[in-house]
Amino acid sequence: MADLDRRDLLIGLSGLAAAASAGACRAAEPPARKIGYAIVGLGYYATRIIMPQFANCRFSRLAALVSGDPAKARTLAAQYDVPERSLYSYQTFDRIRDNPDVDVVYVILPNSMHAEYTIRAAQAGKHVVTEKPMSVSVAEAEAMIAACSKAGKKLAVGYRSHFQPHNLHAIRLVRDGAIGRPRYLLAEHGFVQGDPTKWRLKKALAGGGSLMDMGVYSVQAARYLTGEEPVAVTARSTTDRKDPRFAEVEDLSAWTLEFPSGAINHGMSSYSSNHNFVRLTGDKGRIELEPATPYEGQTLSLTRDGRKEQLTPPPGPAVNQFVGQLDHMAECILNDRQPLISGEMGLQDMRIVDAIYRSAAGGGTIRL
Ligand code: NDP
Repeated sequence: MADLDRRDLLIGLSGLAAAASAGACRAAEPPARKIGYAIVGLGYYATRIIMPQFANCRFSRLAALVSGDPAKARTLAAQYDVPERSLYSYQTFDRIRDNPDVDVVYVILPNSMHAEYTIRAAQAGKHVVTEKPMSVSVAEAEAMIAACSKAGKKLAVGYRSHFQPHNLHAIRLVRDGAIGRPRYLLAEHGFVQGDPTKWRLKKALAGGGSLMDMGVYSVQAARYLTGEEPVAVTARSTTDRKDPRFAEVEDLSAWTLEFPSGAINHGMSSYSSNHNFVRLTGDKGRIELEPATPYEGQTLSLTRDGRKEQLTPPPGPAVNQFVGQLDHMAECILNDRQPLISGEMGLQDMRIVDAIYRSAAGGGTIRL
């Protein structure tokens, strides 16, 4: 019971709370104005996944674009009805301070640029959403939180799974005791990298390899499903340095997280094999999410008394996880609440990632 109480208090419920608050907003009147987002970095995730979702948002709208490619920015601006005066380059970015249409800056740049643009956005008086991983070091994550706090601005990390119905339902099942006391969690995320020239394989831009990019999904799942914070980390990493893809960053990371309740998590990330799977086993059953965290197509099963049942979660309050995330931040700004996918949540992930790297480098078991 103590464990269940603990889960109620920790991040496992942030998604449920987010869902509940977004649900409450859905019933309410539309706001007098939508919150204006500036998107920084017009790459795949920004243009193919996030920007089309503004059409489905109730509280958010696309207000400005920041890009190193003016022609691309102009084409997208025409498509999304963003005025010329709201287009910026990385050099002119700080002028966003004078743009009243922009409430929040969404940083969708290579990982090592998240800290700089979060801090510059806060200094320009804007709220910030930054993509995962929050940063490439603990120190950067702390500096980002400090900058937003000093400016009196909100900071969120793009942890979309906290708004995804299968993940939310899994959290709810664990909280309600459907699998009994959580004992063992397996979390795997990875894909096969191709082109060795891509920024994800460059240490200076990516900060690291599969752990930075995909491992954070495994770490997040362990935290939000158990509802606990790890107290110890032991890790191993294996990389073929002769493979041109892995000259600078690691390929396979595997780690053990120990939780205060005695639950254990084996997590992994890979850039040379495909994985997207989470299984949490308790003393009365288990839940499985496979795939667990893609853009769409999640499945959830519950196994109890030897019977495996596929579950269809109730629909989330938002159209999808991306809209849920965008509108949650907008609602936080409109109602002056703190985002549930907070900078502190991202910072804790960076502490765990840092401990995994240190342990894998020969540091033994790292106590957190
Ligand atoms: P892309 O390579 O597709 O886009 C990155 C964009 O950043 C580029 O198009 C470019 O935009 C800009 N950029 C500025 N400087 C550089 C540079 N030196 N090298 C490369 N790009 C640069 O990356 P993704 O969209 O896949 O990823 C961006 C971020 O989003 C990452 O942090 C990633 O982890 C995160 N992400 C999150 C996902 C999620 O589900 N939450 C999914 C995918 C990515 P421009 O030409 O406009 O200047």
